[in-house]
Amino acid sequence: MSNLLKASSLLSPIAKRLEGKVAVITGGASGIGEATARHFVRHGAKVIIADIQNTVVNSTSTESVSFVHCDVSNERDVEHAVDTAIAKHGKLDIMFSNAGIGGKFDRTIKSLDSQDLKRVFDVNVFDAFYCAKHAARAMIPNKKGSIVFTASAVSAIYGSIPHPYTASKNAVVGLAKNLCVELGKDGIRVNCISPHAVNTPILRNGLGMKEEEVEELVCESANLKGVRLEVEDVAEAVVYLGSDESKYVSGVNLLIDGGFSTTNPAFI
Ligand code: NAD
Repeated sequence: MSNLLKASSLLSPIAKRLEGKVAVITGGASGIGEATARHFVRHGAKVIIADIQNTVVNSTSTESVSFVHCDVSNERDVEHAVDTAIAKHGKLDIMFSNAGIGGKFDRTIKSLDSQDLKRVFDVNVFDAFYCAKHAARAMIPNKKGSIVFTASAVSAIYGSIPHPYTASKNAVVGLAKNLCVELGKDGIRVNCISPHAVNTPILRNGLGMKEEEVEELVCESANLKGVRLEVEDVAEAVVYLGSDESKYVSGVNLLIDGGFSTTNPAFI
């Protein structure tokens, strides 16, 4: 076989980049997490969806995908999700800590609602801590693993939406750096993704935006002409970070913003 033919078979769209991998995806019932679960399965992974929404229970009990009810603000639930992966598949290779809520859309510190702050941190930050803690427990004996946190371009980079959400996403980026140092010696990589605005329920329900406002944000703030960010684009980034293709990538906050932050430095 020629080198070109060999290369083209490696690049085949059906190449399974996650064959044999086992993943837990928090917030996997909707939006970015749901798309990532689909892409992971297409690439050969076994997936445990851990979510507070039970709506996917019946449709996701296949050999490749299973569902556990999980409130990520409760450590026992996250522990159970990891234990389920080990009981069903014998190991955990990828932890995608992705569950998130928006919080109230108050822009001033004077109107800060401490209960809302606590609620946002309980989900967005504690998800990352509990996922990392229990993923590390499962991964350290294998001296290998990939942990990915979902941060956010709009908040972790631009800092332009409500204080609790922005603070929570920056906390996650900081934790990833910290864990990259701590867990690197055990062969575990820790990275973040920071997607730009993508049309999912969190913008409509969580941040209280109307459908037109969401579309305006997604389309008009797109930096690449004629290209809008879709959940599939974010999922592909997570496939990369979960796969061995990124085996030397750790401590990174992968910005998926089409270059928006570079084009609009004044916005940051
Ligand atoms: P989404 O609302 O579609 O998904 C969020 C998921 O998290 C849902 O399935 C929800 O049930 C789950 N969840 C919420 N609270 C939970 C809890 N306590 N325990 C377990 N699961 C819980 O929104 P999305 O856009 O797919 O959000 C996924 C992640 O992406 C979030 O962390 C969000 O902050 C982040 N993000 C979103 C955007 C965007 O524009 N949509 C941009 C950057 C980052």
